Amino acid sequence: MAKDFYKTLGVARDASQDDIKKAFRTQAHKHHPDKGGEEAAFKEINEAYQVLGDEKKRAQYDQYGSAAFDPGGPFSAGQQGGGGFGGFGGFQQNINMEDLGDLFGDVFGFGGGRRGQQRAQGENIEADLSLTFEEAARGVDRDVELYKMVRCSHCSGGGGEPGAEKKTCETCKGAGQIAQTQRTVFGVMQTQRVCPECHGQGKSFTKRCSVCTGTGVHKERAHVRISVPAGIESGETLRVSGEGAAGLHGAPAGDLYLHIRVKPHPHFTRDGDDLVVKKDIGFTTAALGGEMAVETLDGKMTVDVPAGIQSGQVLRVRGKGLVHPRRSGKGDLLVEITVLTPKKLSKEQRRLLEELELS
Ligand SMILES: [Zn+2]
Ligand SMILES: [Zn+2]
Repeated sequence: MAKDFYKTLGVARDASQDDIKKAFRTQAHKHHPDKGGEEAAFKEINEAYQVLGDEKKRAQYDQYGSAAFDPGGPFSAGQQGGGGFGGFGGFQQNINMEDLGDLFGDVFGFGGGRRGQQRAQGENIEADLSLTFEEAARGVDRDVELYKMVRCSHCSGGGGEPGAEKKTCETCKGAGQIAQTQRTVFGVMQTQRVCPECHGQGKSFTKRCSVCTGTGVHKERAHVRISVPAGIESGETLRVSGEGAAGLHGAPAGDLYLHIRVKPHPHFTRDGDDLVVKKDIGFTTAALGGEMAVETLDGKMTVDVPAGIQSGQVLRVRGKGLVHPRRSGKGDLLVEITVLTPKKLSKEQRRLLEELELS
């Protein structure tokens, strides 16, 4: 999908690098998740800046479009982490907090104290989870299939071939970090990066794991058992701790965020924790009162109709709605009444109604 990075940052195509940098700082401030912003928007902004903020990449983008930077595309930086996702649409995970931290750590306060090893933590995965109305109302256990980074079983995530010994990393001489010279919008900068060889461990193995080549993770279809709580609503996000991508070298996994989508029901809608159902009743029942059978999530129930009920009136039945997700008890059942006026009358009915009108 083609993305307009200029639009994302809100700058003109001929904007100077300086303007792009300024726009990014403003936008990143506004959308930073730690400051209550939207994570998805923040990622978009970051992705756009990774390209436009770099004059060389920007030139490639101007020539080839965003496809050039898609994973597997001709200029892909190989940043892809956790992997694809089966069955529930896409998810994005290109956020480059390392770069952002290096450049703006002091501005946003998430640089500084971060140690290399912490950066090996697995990425979060976002996905959509579609539920039926009943599943959302009652809660459900679901198996979700994810194509994600999992811990390598051959080396138990450590990255060394079984029997191999640990030695000081040759690339970083045990420091876990290496100095790197970067061309940035600020000019040439010397930055510290996590050692790509040992991922900040400072040690590496005499022989790397033959399965995962030393990362401690590999990509695989994995099944995650999800317990969806009763009463969850469309638009809510379910966080499943530790079910994101596995961390490098045995570091903790990220989390899985499931964006809940509830399919509409042919009869029911909901209003918060109240279950709303429409019900047609006859003209006579409306006038005289009586009983009616109403559909609920637990089957049919009998509801009293007060005499003289009008079309559009709503009857409330306490405690027959949806489970309150965050406290005990249930919402109510709301029955929206439509009174059906007969279109055809028998002679006898007509006579009786005429008599009614006279009285
Ligand atoms: Zn190293
Ligand atoms: Zn391994």
